[in-house]
Amino acid sequence: MSLTAGVVAVQGDVSEHAAAIESAAAAHGESVEVVEIRESGIVPECDLLAIPGGESTTISRLLAREGIDEEVKSHVAEGKPLLATCAGLIVSSSDANDDRVETLDLLDVSVQRNAFGRQKDSFEAELDVDGLDEPFHAVFIRAPVIDEVGDAEVLATWDGRPVAVRDGPVLSTSFHPELTGDSRIHDLAFFE
Ligand code: GLN
Repeated sequence: MSLTAGVVAVQGDVSEHAAAIESAAAAHGESVEVVEIRESGIVPECDLLAIPGGESTTISRLLAREGIDEEVKSHVAEGKPLLATCAGLIVSSSDANDDRVETLDLLDVSVQRNAFGRQKDSFEAELDVDGLDEPFHAVFIRAPVIDEVGDAEVLATWDGRPVAVRDGPVLSTSFHPELTGDSRIHDLAFFE
């Protein structure tokens, strides 16, 4: 039986996430169909979900306007996996420092948008990630800082700050794991 993977497709690296999901699935002998999510009614059909980066204000607005926000909450409440990256992390968090973002409270962390500092707007780093044998080459683009972690597990840190966390079925990164052709974070989120 084929799995259905939904990628929220308001903006961000939708095709890159789709490719990483397909590659992670193939490594586990699973077949997967990737569908793009722009309206309600699709999330309930999905076995797994990804919310990519982009602008968290825009993504949050569309999710609320279309009623997708409640469907994503139900998905996670049913214990189905969600990978939320960068702006997706901001949207999924329990608190963000911007009232324009209606956080979904799926991940017990608070975040600050664009907080890594001006000269570090974008940078790359080799990260040791719990659950991976070799370092992961992480690309950070105007990434959020996770400044408080509640009941969630920190999987990786950079410069003393958490940059990958897991809270039950939700795995979230402040970097972009879809950009390097390495699908191990998708693998951890969906198939481990
Ligand atoms: N800076 C964006 C925000 O605050 C996130 C950046 C990204 O997703 N690459 O929403």
